[in-house]
Amino acid sequence: MEFKVSELEREPIDFDLELAPGAVDLGGEAEQQGPLAASGRAEVLHEHRGPRDIVADIRLRGRFAGNFEVPCARCVEPVKIPLGADYDLIFRPVAADSEAAERSITPQETEIGYYQKDSLVLEDVLREQVLLSLPVRTLCKPDCKGLCPRCGADRNRQPCSCDEGPSDPRWEALAGLRGRIESRETSPKRN
Ligand SMILES: [Zn+2]
Ligand SMILES: [Zn+2]
Repeated sequence: MEFKVSELEREPIDFDLELAPGAVDLGGEAEQQGPLAASGRAEVLHEHRGPRDIVADIRLRGRFAGNFEVPCARCVEPVKIPLGADYDLIFRPVAADSEAAERSITPQETEIGYYQKDSLVLEDVLREQVLLSLPVRTLCKPDCKGLCPRCGADRNRQPCSCDEGPSDPRWEALAGLRGRIESRETSPKRN
């Protein structure tokens, strides 16, 4: 869905949509499961910078909610997580700030987004909002054992032999040898 400034200048636009998986490109960081609900209102806010300098910002407020799958940080199995958040964002035309580079950027201004040409694409905004709401690290369960760094086996499904210590007979022989060397070193010298 695209909000054109010329249309928003006439009146605000309310939206209430369900977006199918794929409509919002999440770039592989998360996979959308089922519809993504998005509702809210888009409107124009006029920034009066001077008598002849009026900038048309787009304010977009609303919320989104949906179900997603992200890979477990330890075992990479998909983990289902519901995500949802409210947003209240301001978008300024790209050209409005192009010659204002020397203006000091206050922390509030870093919150401002930009729209290209004369319209704002809702799907672009939702992509950013969904990615921002993703947890930094998702685990399939708090005690996920993860993948074995040596053989790559999923240790939640079956313990791999790497975990069981020296089960290989060659290692056992070596361990026995070391035991004999140590006992020889600690035994009192016979003259
Ligand atoms: Zn896991
Ligand atoms: Zn292993």
